[in-house]
Amino acid sequence: MSNFDLQKLAKELRTQDNLCTADPIFLVMEKERVYGLKSGYSDDYVWLDNEGDKYESLKDINDFLIDVYEGTERTVKTAEQAEEAGFTKVYYQEIDRFKCPHFTRKAAELYITQNAHNLRKPFIYVGSMYRCSEMIAIRSFLMNPQDTFTQLVKLSNRVILSTQDPTTGLCKICGAGDDGQHDVNCPAFVASKFVADFKMKLDREVGNV
Ligand SMILES: [Zn+2]
Repeated sequence: MSNFDLQKLAKELRTQDNLCTADPIFLVMEKERVYGLKSGYSDDYVWLDNEGDKYESLKDINDFLIDVYEGTERTVKTAEQAEEAGFTKVYYQEIDRFKCPHFTRKAAELYITQNAHNLRKPFIYVGSMYRCSEMIAIRSFLMNPQDTFTQLVKLSNRVILSTQDPTTGLCKICGAGDDGQHDVNCPAFVASKFVADFKMKLDREVGNV
């Protein structure tokens, strides 16, 4: 792992407050404005000028007019006056938009901190990965990498055992003896090599969890 510590992640997953949610996933969400609604669908609106520039309120419009006309002569007091002056009221609704998922609240919070400038009113929604078998498998591996390794060893031992002829004790596939080296293409060799490689990576990245 280059940019984070798998051991820390495992600990965080095992100790964080999951708010009684099974297999939680922390979703970074943000508020997005959908413009162009009819007034009946929304109470929120902004003003647009002919150039398409946006003003949140009459005050914003007046700040702009004072700046352009270097005085308060052309300022507007009511919505009608704003419309007469060429500003258009555009209604919008705010909807929740999904940005990205995280396994821990900490990671979701860090994402928001690091990307605040690109997010609009971000917040975290805690979802559940209930019945999402792939995600649950990944989460449980991240939570307890050592358990996964133990299961892999068992699986590998079963493969190796299945290649052994019970009468002769030799490998049924490549003919290797009990203490001999299996052929590189023999399932027994492939299985034990996979486990050895996995162990090496695990030790390097996780240490002794
Ligand atoms: Zn073999």
